[in-house]
Amino acid sequence: MPRANDIPPEHHCHWPGCQVKTPPKLFACKMHWYMIPAHLRAGIWAAYVPGQEIRKDPTMAYMMAVRAVYDWVRENHPESFTTQGQLF
Ligand SMILES: [Zn+2]
Repeated sequence: MPRANDIPPEHHCHWPGCQVKTPPKLFACKMHWYMIPAHLRAGIWAAYVPGQEIRKDPTMAYMMAVRAVYDWVRENHPESFTTQGQLF
């Protein structure tokens, strides 16, 4: 029997403007995740701490890895920022 608190909070892909729902531990939906260069993806995983999405306390290293991804998206897919530009 699943308990109510086993249900994760609603979470969606962090790609700017993307509303695809993803598990909280995943940074982006499959399509966008594989558009991100491998070294930036590695940076996200290296800084990820299990449970941070529940505690809402991502580390500075994680925030910097996220920032690096956003900088890359801004440079390579600027159209993604036309409708929505905030981080989370
Ligand atoms: Zn997405």
